[in-house]
Amino acid sequence: MVVMRFLIAKICKILVVFGFLLIQANHVAASPGDLYFHAQKSYYKLMASDEKQKFRHHWMKTIKMFSKVMDRYPKSNEAYKAEYTTGKLFEGLNAVSKNSKDLDQAMHHYSNVSTNYSFVNLTDDALFRVAEIYLARRKFALASEKYKEVSKKYPEGDQVKKAQEKYKSIKVAAKKRYVNLTSVARPKIPTSKPPKPKTYKKLVIAKPLIKSVKKVARETVKKTPLYRKHAKIKDGFGRGYLFTPRGSRDNQIDSPLIVVDAGHGGKDHGAKSVSGIKEKDVNIKIAKHVKAILVNRYKYSVVMTRKDDTFISLKDRSKISNKRNADLFVSIHANAAKRKSAHGIETYFLGTSHNKQALETAARENRGLVKSVKDDRVQQILASLITTTKINDSSRLASRVQENLCRSSKKVNRNLKNLGVKEGPFYVLHGADMPSILVEVGFLTNQKEAKMLSQPQYIYRLASSIAEGIHKYLLQDKGSSI
Ligand SMILES: [Zn+2]
Repeated sequence: MVVMRFLIAKICKILVVFGFLLIQANHVAASPGDLYFHAQKSYYKLMASDEKQKFRHHWMKTIKMFSKVMDRYPKSNEAYKAEYTTGKLFEGLNAVSKNSKDLDQAMHHYSNVSTNYSFVNLTDDALFRVAEIYLARRKFALASEKYKEVSKKYPEGDQVKKAQEKYKSIKVAAKKRYVNLTSVARPKIPTSKPPKPKTYKKLVIAKPLIKSVKKVARETVKKTPLYRKHAKIKDGFGRGYLFTPRGSRDNQIDSPLIVVDAGHGGKDHGAKSVSGIKEKDVNIKIAKHVKAILVNRYKYSVVMTRKDDTFISLKDRSKISNKRNADLFVSIHANAAKRKSAHGIETYFLGTSHNKQALETAARENRGLVKSVKDDRVQQILASLITTTKINDSSRLASRVQENLCRSSKKVNRNLKNLGVKEGPFYVLHGADMPSILVEVGFLTNQKEAKMLSQPQYIYRLASSIAEGIHKYLLQDKGSSI
């Protein structure tokens, strides 16, 4: 009896401790950064699946996840981004549903971004979207008013040029009497949600604080076996690592270390064009330039997984990165597809995927290592190995690089297709412990892109924009939207 009682008491104690731990875990999981991250993941999944996009409930599920961020943490760094993305989601939903109420909602959330948060980097983007919706609704006077507001209020913003062009084109159309700028009633923007707080303060961390945080981090890092001399710490918002960008050659060891991985090599040729261009050769050319630019222009430290035409297994590639305790891993590839017309640039980060094309690309790049990435089990194993921090940072790095690549390449190829940032079960990404991405710079199976990939100037352009994307990510000058 006494033993029984003792046992019951013991079990109760364990249960209480467990409960407490669960509450703790829950508490930690509900930080604005985490909520935003989960919403972001759901967003990417939705964007990657044409099938999901057909159903309203998939859109609403993601929207609800972003709403949670706004409702629970209206003053957080993530709130305005969540609000902007909600606008984007309703706009996307409207494109499918053709329900004007969805567009009303998009308008409502965009308006909130430009009115409820004072001066954040998406304010001008949101205002521009509002103008675009007015234009789509043929409310020309209101649209032109908003376009004007963009260039007047945010002359430094990246939407100015577009806004000015649109403003002019409406004026020209009005002159020619194609549009009427006088008789437009001002539609009411629905205000179904309580207004967000008006004061949004940009987070400013005092320098001494940064110093002391770095000191603590350095000491913590020193205690870990993977210690490398520069401090790698979280800034508390799930927004990546804090770095001291290197100033001179003297403190080279303190600069971020980037692994540049030229895909394939040696007996593994990778993809091939009809004219005989091998992917492994394209990859190494780009990778060499990326290294030179990162070192010379941006003063970072760089390690290459291969410097010449040698074969290195996928496993060894990530081993190299982990051994050197690198900060970033960037794998460079050229794409291939059965459909000769397939073209464009895409950037991957590690994740599970149901997107057919992403799975095919992953299967090709994983060749030899994983028999079938379509196998759910392989995906599950890969997914379980990914830490949320790594994914969050990888997706941000991917966005930066993709954005830069497309912007730059469009200048010489107006028809360049931005295939976007995608998740995929790439083995080479799974092994690396640091934020890692895989860039597919173009399709060798597409005649036009194969020709471009044979031009040295174009190769340099690609390399330069990859390096610039990496630099922008490391600087974290601006928080990315999604
Ligand atoms: Zn490849």
